[in-house]
Formats: sequence, structure tokens, C-alpha cells
Amino acid sequence: MEKVRDLYEFAEELREKVDIVEYISQYVKLKKRGKNYMGLCPFHPDKNPSFSVSREKGLFHCFGCGVGGNIYHFIMKIEGVDFVKAVEILAKWAGVEIPKYKVSKEKGEIFNLHEIFTSYFEKLLHENKEAMNYLKKRGLKEEVISKFRLGYAPEDISFFLKEKKIKPEIFKKTGLYPFSHFRGRLIFPIFDTVGRVIGFSGRTLKDEEPKYINSGESVFKKREALYGIFQAKDSILKNREVVLVEGYMDVIMLHQNGIENSVSSMGTSFTIDQGRILKRFADRIYICFDPDTGGIAGTKRALDIAETLNFDVRIVKIPENLDPDEYVLKNGKESFFELLKDAPDVVTFLWSEAEKLHKNDESAVPLVKDLIEIAKRIRDEAKRFEVIRKIAERTKFPEDIILNEIKRGKKKKKRDESILEQKDLLEREFLSAIVKNERFFSIIKDEIDENYFFTERYRNLYRKITSNLTKDVLEEDSIYREMILEDNEISEEVFFDIFRRFKLRYLMRVKEKIIKEIDEIDKEDEERFNYLKLKLFEIEKDIKSFLHKKEV
Ligand SMILES: [Zn+2]
Repeated sequence: MEKVRDLYEFAEELREKVDIVEYISQYVKLKKRGKNYMGLCPFHPDKNPSFSVSREKGLFHCFGCGVGGNIYHFIMKIEGVDFVKAVEILAKWAGVEIPKYKVSKEKGEIFNLHEIFTSYFEKLLHENKEAMNYLKKRGLKEEVISKFRLGYAPEDISFFLKEKKIKPEIFKKTGLYPFSHFRGRLIFPIFDTVGRVIGFSGRTLKDEEPKYINSGESVFKKREALYGIFQAKDSILKNREVVLVEGYMDVIMLHQNGIENSVSSMGTSFTIDQGRILKRFADRIYICFDPDTGGIAGTKRALDIAETLNFDVRIVKIPENLDPDEYVLKNGKESFFELLKDAPDVVTFLWSEAEKLHKNDESAVPLVKDLIEIAKRIRDEAKRFEVIRKIAERTKFPEDIILNEIKRGKKKKKRDESILEQKDLLEREFLSAIVKNERFFSIIKDEIDENYFFTERYRNLYRKITSNLTKDVLEEDSIYREMILEDNEISEEVFFDIFRRFKLRYLMRVKEKIIKEIDEIDKEDEERFNYLKLKLFEIEKDIKSFLHKKEV
């Protein structure tokens, strides 16, 4: 416990030394606006910059989705790591040596074991002719074999476990259990974004089925893993562009040929979780699946997910019916770059797919229907109208019929806005004013209490503000962060004006409540009736004196 506390202190010191704007700029393009920096949020599908970073306060906050915190929260969120790992990452980035500390977490132990096995398998690969020959035959060079740390799993692991004193019950928790799945196979370690081995994939060298076997779901979350993300991350961040392929070999071969921003979804089912991880690092995605039927169906699903996440989506069609690895091996880097350059956007791609599908139809209706579905996906109104015009031109259907068809679909989709929580503007305004003006607040502090807040969230925040919490605890509250990052400063005059309106509104509300109760009360209950009358009298007096004070 003592040691971890040391780490915490170290982390606080480190936080003072680094520039949060510089750090976050590696991931997000930030522009100065007022005192803060703004950019597109990497954590939600953001259209207008709602992601704010304050150098002065050392905080970030998204006004769209509410995430935020200090630089460690950012690293934890963007890299999907825990606090300890986030400190390590920041220390490394800042070139600061990290003091020794103890991690007893089981997860850390599993990562360590995975690392030990990965090194062991790497060594075995180079001693195994059959496996090396296979890789050479596929065209892999030593450079990428070591970059991706490919390995070979022995027939028997028990000697190694004994030698390293790894207990069977611990081994069971690793991604190599049951080992029978991996023995005698080529091993592809799977890394997370910061380079820890989270799982393994074993490929047969003997044409056994299945060709690839992955670690079990207990340690390894396949839907959140992207093969090659660690090796590709820096290159992706350069232009915030990523090439998404199906296979392990595709990734490795593309990297070997200089397309280092490629990752694999490990099969054709690209998941929303994988998409979210990529969205932290990229804004444009090139979907580049194999040209077989599975690949085309997978492409359509993947582009739906990518569009939901607001990626700029391009679909790469590989000619000659080749897989990406075969294509780049045969035609080289430059011609692959040409494919990327010419890759159509979603509308163009889906349009040509629809044309292909309906090319032998007698009626134009099925084609029109499919094209209308494409137009419906377009959020930008001008672009949508342009496509509608093209549909009319292509199919000879009148534009207004197409337009009506689209509108009909839209109506159903409209969300019920009334469900959205109604925010109390005045309460927020007042809270924001006291957060920014502690001096003015101290003057009126005793005149109000938490009951003045009718909105629970604001009442909670007020309670926090008035209970002497430290700044970093307060900063955990997203509304608080939002407020201190707002740029507007408030003069004394404005502050007291907000306060008067806030207090008056409270008094009026209380008065209303009392009147309502008097109306509804059983008149026989004289005691209660008199009590309420007295209350009403008091509150009216308060209001009067308060209004009077305003005039002074
Ligand atoms: Zn956000």
C-alpha cells in the first residue's frame, strides 16, 4: 500500500511537469480558442469540436459526452489502461524515470507471463526450420517477423513451466490455456494499444482445421482487440488514417511494404468496440477486406459501424480478386497507395453495388428503392439533395417522389425530445458563477443552502462545493469541469444579479408550493392550516424585503 502511495505522489509531480495540450495533441488536433484548446472528441462521434483542453488547469473535458479529467484520465481512456500503466506511459513520454513500485494485481501478472511466453516462442521460431520456411514462403522478411514478434509453440510446454516455476493454476489463467490448441503452431501474439500481450493466435502449419485458434474469451476480449494496433498506432496518428484488413498476414505484409497504418479486425466482423478504439486514433478508415462474398458482406457491416462512429469511410476494392497481402506482395507499395487514393466513399461504393445487384432487373423499382436507402444515410442536406438529383437522373423517377419517400422514413426516426432531461438554466448559471468567484460566494454563502437547488445534479454539486473537498475530487464531477473550463468571466455586478434571481426564484417557488397546499388541504385540519398561513406570511415578508434590498 505504502509503495503505491509513492507512485501516486510521483504521478502528481509528473503531472505538474508535463503540458497536457502537447500530450493530447498527439491524438487530437487542437486549436486555441480563448484560454482553452478545442478539438474533435476522440471518445464520441463528434461533428463540431466539443472537446476542450485547458493547459492552465491541466484538464480536459468534452462538452458533448461529458468525459474528462486530468492527463491520467485521458491516457487511461484513450489507451484503455489502468492508472499505474497510465503513469508509466506518461513518464516514458516525458523521459522521466519512474520509481520502483509494487503491482500485485493479477492482471499485471498475466501480462508478465504472456510476455515471458512471447519471448520464448520467438526464440523457438528461429530454431524451427519448418515454421521459418513457411514464413519465408509467404514472403515475410526477418524485419517484420521480429516487429510482430511471431513465434512457434512447442509440442510440450511442461518443461518450460517447471523451469520458470509457473504454477498450473496460474497458467490456466493465461491466454495459452488449454495449450493443446496452440502446440506445434505458428504464434501471433496480440497486443493492446500500449504493447502488452493480451492474447495469442495460433496458425496451423499442417493444414489442420481451424486454420487459426485464438485465446479463450476469459482473458482475451476478441471484440475489443485489433491485430497490429500497437505497431500501427504511431503511423495512424500521423494523418489520423487507418487501413482495416481481415487477416494477420494482411497486416504484416502491408507493414513490410510501408503501409504501416494497417490493422486487422481478425476476421470480417468488425465490432463497434474495435471501432471505438480506432476512433481515438483515426478519423478516416479505409475498409479493405478480401474480395470474396464474406468480405463484401463484412464490408457492408463494417461501414455501417464506421459511419455510426463518424469516420470518413473509404472502401478499397482490390483488383484481380487478390487479398491485400497478395496484392501488395505482387504489385508493391506505390500501387497500393493508388488503390487508397482512388478508394470510393460509402455512397459511391453502395451505389455501384446496387447497380451490380440489379443489373438484370426488368423493373427499375428495386434499384430505386436501394438507391433511396443510400440517400437516407446522408446527413448533410446539400449532399443528400445532390444524390437525390442523381437518382432521379439515373432512374427517370421524379425527384419529388424520391424526396417524399425519404421524408416518410425520416419522420419515424425522429427522437422524442421531450424525454431529454430538462436542465434548470438558472441553477446552472448560479453554480457556474460561484465556482468562478469564490470571493463573491463567501459573501452570500450563509443566505442559501442546498435546498435552493431543485435539480438533483446541481444540488449534489453544490453540496460538494460547500464541503471542503480538494480540487481534484471536485474535478471528477463533469459539470464542475465544464464550468471551470468556460471562458466567460463574471463581474461583481453580474454575479449579484444572478444571485438575486436565483434566490428570488427559490422564494417564489416555495410560496407557490405553500399556496398549493393550502388549496388542497382538508380545512378541518386547523392546526396545519394555520401553520401554512404563517409560513406564507413569512415567505411573503422575505420576498418583500428581498425585493426591497434590491432597490437599495
Ligand atoms: Zn466527447
